[in-house]
Amino acid sequence: MTDATRFQCPNCDAQYRVVPVEAPPTPDAPLACVSCGGPLQSRDGEQALKYFRIDEKPRRARVRKG
Ligand SMILES: [Zn+2]
Repeated sequence: MTDATRFQCPNCDAQYRVVPVEAPPTPDAPLACVSCGGPLQSRDGEQALKYFRIDEKPRRARVRKG
C-alpha cells in the first residue's frame, strides 16, 4: 500500500502518480512537467514529491517481427 496520489497537469493534462518521500529540508530543484515544462509542486511540507508519468494511452511503436 502506498500513499501515491494522482495528479493531472493543468496545462497539458498529463497524468502523474505523485509519491511523497521523506527528504531533508534542503531546497530542491524546481520540478517541471515532462510534457509541457509547466511548474510542478516539488514539496509538501517536510516531504518531497516525486512525480511518475502515467501513460494512459497504449503505445504502438512496438512492432513484432518474425
Ligand atoms: Zn504539463
